[in-house]
Amino acid sequence: MRWAGLELKSEFELELASRLLLHIWVIMFVFRLVAILCLVSGFAGQALDARTFTDKKGREIKADIVSVDGDSVELKIIKKGGKTYMIPISKLSETDQGFIKEWQRNKESEKERKADGHEEEASSAGRGGGTMALMDKYDLKDNYDADWPRLVSIDIGMDVSVISEDEGVSKFIYHSPNYEFVCDVALSKNVVKKFAVMFEATREFCRLLPISTMKAHVPGEQFRHKIFLFETKEAYMQNGGPPGSAGVFMSRGGNGVVMVPLTSLGVIKGKGGYRFDYDGSNKTLPHELTHQLCDVEYFSSGSVGWFSEGLADYIATTPYRSGKFMVRSNLDEIRDYVTAYGEKGRGGRALGEEIEAPDLKEFMLQPYQSFTANGNFNYGMGLLLTYYFFQMEDNRANMVAFLKALKTGKQGQDAIDVLLNGRSYEELEEQVAKAWKSRGVSITFR
Ligand SMILES: [Zn+2]
Repeated sequence: MRWAGLELKSEFELELASRLLLHIWVIMFVFRLVAILCLVSGFAGQALDARTFTDKKGREIKADIVSVDGDSVELKIIKKGGKTYMIPISKLSETDQGFIKEWQRNKESEKERKADGHEEEASSAGRGGGTMALMDKYDLKDNYDADWPRLVSIDIGMDVSVISEDEGVSKFIYHSPNYEFVCDVALSKNVVKKFAVMFEATREFCRLLPISTMKAHVPGEQFRHKIFLFETKEAYMQNGGPPGSAGVFMSRGGNGVVMVPLTSLGVIKGKGGYRFDYDGSNKTLPHELTHQLCDVEYFSSGSVGWFSEGLADYIATTPYRSGKFMVRSNLDEIRDYVTAYGEKGRGGRALGEEIEAPDLKEFMLQPYQSFTANGNFNYGMGLLLTYYFFQMEDNRANMVAFLKALKTGKQGQDAIDVLLNGRSYEELEEQVAKAWKSRGVSITFR
């Protein structure tokens, strides 16, 4: 076809494909146990919302901007192995020209931020203007003063609606109160309602935790978190899902997306279409959904790793059934998850009841890549530490002060100084070890 004065080799066909640099959090299943190993990598994954560009003659094509050079834009046409073309910007519609300018502006401000040295892990989680801007935009209030929830429960009879169903491009969109599901096959409302329960319950858990993760507080009528669902594992992987994973959070700008193959949701193909087969007690999804709901500052140096993953595992390890998280009785489950393989083969980190831990300062300040490099141990230890600050310190004042400091831009040792609140690392090590000792776990710090 001809487009914007160029001969393009083939029609654009894939709705869901384009290449962007993405940082991904990966969950891998190992046998029947869920051994969780999340990594951030400069993964050349695929984004899900390429733009439709229109040339001056009104012809459309799906593409991603690769770069802008003077008067020309380099567009990567969306299709398998899509080629890139340099196109004079003037050949594109006014709207597209505006979009390209905006794109270039964003790129430049991103460069400036990096030059300021503020990018690090925080930007890998997506700095979309930060939480302050989010709170302003949606008029949100923090909830640091709320009580720790004892039970999280949602209405399992919630409304689900069909937004659009387009056979032609295999795009089917459904809404639950706080989520938008974009699927490549048609699903019945009843099936969507069944699996949406776990999504909504996880969001409610994040909302009720008095840690002010504001992304969980934005009302669904104003913003729905996006979930891309794939009929097959192959389609999931084609779109950037890591092989062997049951679901993945991909951060892109301020709001990341979660991608999930239908099989991970217990949705299977039957004679008359898809049906919901089981109420999966799957720890992968709540973990990834928590990343999606976690405010960007909580991925800063000083909290990334031990806390960002500790929080996701805290939610994922709390007993869940049919729209309910049993928070008040989660200690046993969390301890078993860290020390053993968990009940009924449901996964665990098997660190044992006598744990040799590294120096706490090193552990808390290590870069995310080193955190994930020794994933099994670090996730388990991160969960013990997060649990300690959540539920074992006399009051949560130190934790709250720490989270507030992160929100105001403190990072690294500066942020942890607030958490230490005058204690040395050695003193904190003693307190953590003592608290866990009384719950049957012995930790020896190096
Ligand atoms: Zn993770």
